[in-house]
Amino acid sequence: MNSSEPNFLPDLPLQDELSRQAFPLSALYVVATPIGNIADISLRALKVLTLADAVACEDTRNTALLLQRYGISKPLIAAHEHNEREAAEGLIARLAAGARIALVSDAGTPGVSDPGARIVDAVRDAGYKIVPVPGASAAVTALSVSGFLHAHFYFAGFLPAKAKQRDAAISALRPIEATLVFYEAPHRIVETVEALADNLEPTRQVVFARELTKLFEEIHRCSLAEAGAWIAADPHRQKGEYVVLVEGAAAQGEADAADAERILKILLAECPVKQAASLAAQITGQKKNALYERALQLKDE
Ligand code: SAM
Repeated sequence: MNSSEPNFLPDLPLQDELSRQAFPLSALYVVATPIGNIADISLRALKVLTLADAVACEDTRNTALLLQRYGISKPLIAAHEHNEREAAEGLIARLAAGARIALVSDAGTPGVSDPGARIVDAVRDAGYKIVPVPGASAAVTALSVSGFLHAHFYFAGFLPAKAKQRDAAISALRPIEATLVFYEAPHRIVETVEALADNLEPTRQVVFARELTKLFEEIHRCSLAEAGAWIAADPHRQKGEYVVLVEGAAAQGEADAADAERILKILLAECPVKQAASLAAQITGQKKNALYERALQLKDE
């Protein structure tokens, strides 16, 4: 840190390490902030906020509170979904004059179901440096505790508010072989859960990640068939912020294997092992030898 810069965080751990890092001028720093727990902010984010000449934010009141908790005082510039384009022009003028600008949203990572993307795009177009300062995001936080084994996830964000569009959106997601990630506002959680159960297989697993990192955090996993009853069991569950994760469609190979197993079991109840395996192979197109081996195991069980 330059000795003329105020040091708002004299006790920050890694102060020496952070001081050796580069924080270029004329750059936009896209800074993730907590999604609930005030302590979930990185040391680098705090350093950037102390060095910034101004902080562009979704809601100046929220950001003022966050900065106040960390003893940081900065000029705040409103940059929300209704003025992003104009705000970008003002920010670019400041970058041209050599400023470091931090961009934050109300919670989590800017640009993820939050304003920020237009500003980043305009700043990139104008040729200035953009520096990500990563941290919390509700989607990734929920995925980390889901226990879902899928290697992939599909971020669906907020579903449409109107029933018809919502049903259509969910149906379109049905074949996706990846964990489906939804954001939901508290007042719509009941309808959303009903729509998910109506438009996807009720056997799919769902994880509710409610009020993550906050006092009343709740993480619950059940089938879609059981989901409505879980929400209804406690009136508090109709309040608070939610990430809803739904198990993706079974991969085609897995679905075919599950189908073959089901058919084999039905045939085994009626025919000898060899005939059951042969018929199952003809119906499903799976290998006869493998089905025969499996039929022998099932017979022994
Ligand atoms: N930019 C944020 C991010 O990186 O996650 C998301 C902002 S989006 C406007 C707000 C939505 O994120 C909420 O409606 C909810 O679905 C989800 N969310 C934010 N904080 C959450 C929390 N603490 N627990 C559960 N969901 C949360």
